Amino acid sequence: MPLQFTRSWSDPDLEAFRDACVRFIEAEVLPGDEAARKRGHVGHALWRKAGELGFLCTDIPSEFGGAGGDFRHEAVFDEEMARRALTGMSTSVHSIVAHYFLNHGTDAQKRHYLPKLARGELVGAIAMTEPGAGSDLQAVRTRAERRGDHWVINGSKTFISNGYLAGVVLVVCKTDPTQGARGTSILIVDTGRASDEDPGLAAGTPGFRVGRILDKMGMKAQDTSELFFDELHVPADKVLGGEPGQGFFQLMSDLPYERLIIGVAALAGMEGAYDATLAYVRERQAFGQPIAAYQNTRFKLAEAATQIMAGRAFVDRCVEAIVAGTLDTATASMAKLWGSETQGRVLDELLQLWGGYGYMNETMVARMYTDARVQRIYGGTNEIMKEVIARNL
Ligand SMILES: Cc1cc2nc3c(=O)[nH]c(=O)nc-3n(C[C@H](O)[C@H](O)[C@H](O)COP(=O)(O)OP(=O)(O)OC[C@H]3O[C@@H](n4cnc5c(N)ncnc54)[C@H](O)[C@@H]3O)c2cc1C
Repeated sequence: MPLQFTRSWSDPDLEAFRDACVRFIEAEVLPGDEAARKRGHVGHALWRKAGELGFLCTDIPSEFGGAGGDFRHEAVFDEEMARRALTGMSTSVHSIVAHYFLNHGTDAQKRHYLPKLARGELVGAIAMTEPGAGSDLQAVRTRAERRGDHWVINGSKTFISNGYLAGVVLVVCKTDPTQGARGTSILIVDTGRASDEDPGLAAGTPGFRVGRILDKMGMKAQDTSELFFDELHVPADKVLGGEPGQGFFQLMSDLPYERLIIGVAALAGMEGAYDATLAYVRERQAFGQPIAAYQNTRFKLAEAATQIMAGRAFVDRCVEAIVAGTLDTATASMAKLWGSETQGRVLDELLQLWGGYGYMNETMVARMYTDARVQRIYGGTNEIMKEVIARNL
């Protein structure tokens, strides 16, 4: 029997949901990917379609408009996108934003934003990183100052996933620069960008401006942008959770979710590349026989399969833990660190088996290779992951 990368946490219902995800992705996402890669974003219509069909906020309770599932549903959708090198919709960032609302928002904030995120009416983004501060979040300089019944935001953010299409951005700001962590808050910014046809996409909100869609080495279909705030007025009740000074603690408590999603996508990406490579080397001939017949090819595939199997055992354990509510930050950081490092090495070896075709962007494995590089950088760099793990030894 051929090797199968089964998931310990799956069941027939989840596999039926996986089939529905695959049908949606192959019908709606895949055909538009090439155009989205050229444009630098997937457009709002696709987000709305995903929302209408129940593929967004799958692990948000139904009372807030979500599908009422758990982390495994999010994992299934992300896996099927990652297996096909589809990175245009950052549903993981969208879900992370939804979880900030769910875990830390006031009741009114949850009831207002979560159903809109679930329907894809609003695309979510979270803006922590600035031109001068990424790993060191306490050094953020974007300032929100209380003036009467508003907060006035000044500053800028960069590298923000979903930044171009986002209708709501959670912006990490200093609300009291004299305090360290306690002086940080998350402000909710309504950008007015909700539809491709909406003139708001161009006009936006006074005081808020989206800069360039950044020219990345990979993940070409995903809009990663700069954001600028110039005397942007937001109402006083737009502090996440209602109380200023909670931002740093809110950020820290949601890290395991974000880091495990990166680990899950790393594994699925490797599996997709492995399956495609296995099929290719069985077809491709050199010196009168398939490439698959060479011992080097078989050993490289055996190594890749072994790495994937080992990773699957660990990531599956983390998925079970997060569903049970017991995943700690250090273990989630290990999943991100190990998953992304292994993904880089495995994709490099698999790409080699494609020869020159492996270097062509039309080949899925080539796109996966460049897309994968950022997995070691975002969500906290892998050096920061090692710091987090080391602190818990
Ligand atoms: C495609 C993409 C999408 C992104 N999406 C988002 C997003 O949606 N929202 C968001 O807020 N940010 C996002 N980011 C930003 C990302 O999280 C940061 O780039 C990352 O955290 C690193 O910050 P930095 O780029 O400022 O690097 P720096 O912090 O300047 O780090 C530079 C180097 O120094 C190392 N370093 C820093 N501190 C230490 C230390 N204490 N010990 C050892 N080494 C250290 C780092 O590991 C790195 O190798 C995205 C980035 C990319 C590329």
